[in-house]
Amino acid sequence: ATAASLALTLSACGQSGEGGSEEDKGGSDGATIGIAMPTKSSERWIADGANVEKELKAKGFKTKLVFGEDDPDQQVSQIENMITQGVDALIVAAIDNKSLGNVLQQAKDADIPVVSYDRLILGTENVDYYASFDNEKVGELQGGYIVEKLGLKAGKKGPFNIELFAGSNDDNNTRYFFQGAMNVLKPYMDKGQLVVRSKQTDLNQVTTLRWDGGTAQKRMDDLLTSSYRSTRVDAVLSPYDGISIGILSALKSDGYGSGSKAMPVVTGQDAEVASLKSIISGQQTQTVFKDLRELAKVAANMVDSVLNDKKPEVNDTKSYDNGSKVVPAYLLQPVSVDKSNYKQVLVDGGYYTEDQLK
Ligand code: BGC
Repeated sequence: ATAASLALTLSACGQSGEGGSEEDKGGSDGATIGIAMPTKSSERWIADGANVEKELKAKGFKTKLVFGEDDPDQQVSQIENMITQGVDALIVAAIDNKSLGNVLQQAKDADIPVVSYDRLILGTENVDYYASFDNEKVGELQGGYIVEKLGLKAGKKGPFNIELFAGSNDDNNTRYFFQGAMNVLKPYMDKGQLVVRSKQTDLNQVTTLRWDGGTAQKRMDDLLTSSYRSTRVDAVLSPYDGISIGILSALKSDGYGSGSKAMPVVTGQDAEVASLKSIISGQQTQTVFKDLRELAKVAANMVDSVLNDKKPEVNDTKSYDNGSKVVPAYLLQPVSVDKSNYKQVLVDGGYYTEDQLK
């Protein structure tokens, strides 16, 4: 194999994203940044890995990129390896936010600064900065879309039936997304205009371990059987596109989306290609777009500043308490996307080409 094809193969396997030949060294003295992403099972994290590498290389850094297959132990040992290999800084999107205390102590002992990427790492002082989106806002956009689409905002009284899904309980973002959605949905639930027939309304009843679509599909199947034999479900709060796909499969198997049985309103997150296609074809209703190009820039700038003894730019110094400290954060804004604005936001915005969404 040529060096180039080998590099491609290696990075495709997630073995090594070791970037930057000697010539790549820029004003950063060839420092190497370790990047730990949670999984390749979802498009977004693959894009995150690529974007972060690109931004860092443009600043003259070398990179090591690893993906953890959604296995917390594997992620811990990947980070340990990068510390042993002498990386100069770490950017980490955690799998289990509480499992990194020991390994981040090792990072601290080796004087390696840590940026928590997208998901806040909990229970350790050894997190220097947090790069993310306004996560509560993500949930508010999902909840807001549901009440708007059902006509509740415009004065319809309902009642409408809704079921709630949340993300992985070991991901700190999960409670922010859910809280945001509940900020909007709860007042309607309290008035009886939105009814959760299953009565599963507490966060701990509706989480989906590791954001797994199959797990969500199974739960939706069960809900349809237990609570919707004599009535229909009008909306499903879904926190993530991969979960929405599972929910939609269960709905389709139950006859929704054909004949007179219209699909419920189904939300999502990440604007992944499969879900955009589903939105365009009238199945999933909405998703939340988070511009990962911008997130990568924020994270790369943070590392660049820290390693050059400058203070990174932050815009939030109070929202994200990880149990050991309030982690200074830079939060970007999420955008709600549906059939009516995907072209403007995603195609005109240069995120996807029309062809990718066909
Ligand atoms: C991210 C979401 C993503 C989810 C599942 C969350 O931590 O913020 O963008 O949908 O993980 O990968």
